[in-house]
Amino acid sequence: MTGRPRLFRGIGASPGIASGRVLLLDQGRLRVPRHHLQADQIDHEIRRLREAIDAAVAQLDAAQALLHDAGVESRSIVEAHAMMLKDSALFAEIAGAIRSQQINAEWAVTRVVGRWRSLFAQVADTYLRERRSDIDFVGQRLLQHLGGKLGELPLNGLPEAGTIIVAHELSPVSAVLLARQRVTALVTEAGGKTSHTSIVARSLEIPAVVGTVGVLDAAGNGDLVIVDGHAGTVQLRPTRAHLERSRQRDDRDRRRALELLETRSLPAATADGTSLVIAGNIELPIEVTTVVQRGGEAIGLYRTEFLFAGRAALPDEEDHYRTYSRIFDEIGDRPVTIRTLDLGGEKVFAALRNDPEPNPALGLRAIRYCLAHPELFTTQLAGLLRASAHGPLRILLPMISSLDELRFAREQIAEVGDELRGRGRTFADRVPVGVMLEVPSAVLIVDHLAEECDFFAVGTNDLVQYLLAADRSNARVDYLYSAYHPAVLRALRAIITAAAARDRPVSICGEAAGDPQFLPLLIGLGFRQLSMSPSAIPPLKQAVRQLRAADCERLVEAAAQATTQREVVALTRDFLHANLGPAYRELADR
Ligand code: PEP
Ligand code: MG
Repeated sequence: MTGRPRLFRGIGASPGIASGRVLLLDQGRLRVPRHHLQADQIDHEIRRLREAIDAAVAQLDAAQALLHDAGVESRSIVEAHAMMLKDSALFAEIAGAIRSQQINAEWAVTRVVGRWRSLFAQVADTYLRERRSDIDFVGQRLLQHLGGKLGELPLNGLPEAGTIIVAHELSPVSAVLLARQRVTALVTEAGGKTSHTSIVARSLEIPAVVGTVGVLDAAGNGDLVIVDGHAGTVQLRPTRAHLERSRQRDDRDRRRALELLETRSLPAATADGTSLVIAGNIELPIEVTTVVQRGGEAIGLYRTEFLFAGRAALPDEEDHYRTYSRIFDEIGDRPVTIRTLDLGGEKVFAALRNDPEPNPALGLRAIRYCLAHPELFTTQLAGLLRASAHGPLRILLPMISSLDELRFAREQIAEVGDELRGRGRTFADRVPVGVMLEVPSAVLIVDHLAEECDFFAVGTNDLVQYLLAADRSNARVDYLYSAYHPAVLRALRAIITAAAARDRPVSICGEAAGDPQFLPLLIGLGFRQLSMSPSAIPPLKQAVRQLRAADCERLVEAAAQATTQREVVALTRDFLHANLGPAYRELADR
């Protein structure tokens, strides 16, 4: 280990303390060396190419096994990439370029990939045209192996257990794959607390710090590092004393988590008798077990777009049907709210990657994407409706911004229902259809929406982003991004009032729902159904039991008079101090 200790402060994105050795993933900065060869260097260069192809194939083969373990079924994108790499024409063409043009392997790879890419771009067939991104991916993998580096998806060959990934940014898909390996923590320079990579890290219970500016330049592969996902700190090259302190904290946190787990079956009712329903958010079907183990009473949000992670072929009706119906095998007859595909934005998966969006958060995302791709949408709807025969399933529509979108979506659901009946398929007589309230326009017309939907789920992650015009994944505007802003509180109150007037159930499933410090505001506003990452469930349930709903209502009255986010934060903090006493420290520590 070389270099002095350095402490970085980022955004605590997923709690837990981990120490281990740095592995840099530096894909964004990949430079391609270019040089001409002497005649006697050519054979050596072609051997390097052969070795790089073999290593890339071996890595992708290992990835397939991982995807299989992660419950991702069917032929994967990884398999398609491995096939491309194994294609002898690819090797022959790159080797030919090395020999005839006397250029190094990296340079030859970029030339050949560029040529294949332009050939694909010219074909009329959309499917083939979209294979351009696969060619790019294969080229990237080869370049990384030639440079002896791992890319954004280091699918095997990680060093010993205890590896901590340090990257500029990571896609949510990479986070899923990394968490399935021996990676113990994630550190990124980009990202915010509610970016999907952070959400995935929390769901899979792997400590993460995001928005850690400068860490990539300061860290070296193999450096020792301590990641504190609660405090949001990254201690690079720690001293013995640092390590001892973090070990003690880690021991204490683990003891507390175990104690809390003992209380998981206690009801989530306030000290003055108001009952809440605490549900779990999931990204992968295997997380259903975690929700149940943590004391969750339902699945409040299943983000189905993660079905697309690591696949080449789009899921078909049977894939959807089997995935959703199996959830009931695990969770019995408890309610399961399944959100239709929220593709786009940050969640662009290989199977769908085509035209990049100039402004993804405001582009063809979620319900917009589905309505523009009816085959994709109706295939999922058919799987969803059929799965409703197995238990109380609710369909949730993401990013609704107008009544028209809700109507179009409902028409599609009705048509798919007719079509299924025609095919003799059975499904529940009535499958509730809900609207996610996460776009300001939807909040302003919540009364109209209530007339035509069965329930609401508030997505504060996006609602805060769109209300405050602060990108949820951009660490630079993290200081603006806050659910405590008076505008957010007003929006939440408007939602509760309109939903109650029309007797529509309303749950809240953004990350704010799992934050014990935000909890008194939610209880005081009248929210009674909260859905969150599984790991947030036990501490949240305990916090519910420590509060009184009547006191929370008074807090909300006071907060309604506050004019700035800072005032709301201060009021809430003082409230928790006054009402919880010493227990507040513990709550704030989580
Ligand atoms: C939200 O926006 O709050 C939400 C729950 O959905 P996602 O985080 O997947 O955008
Ligand atoms: Mg959202």
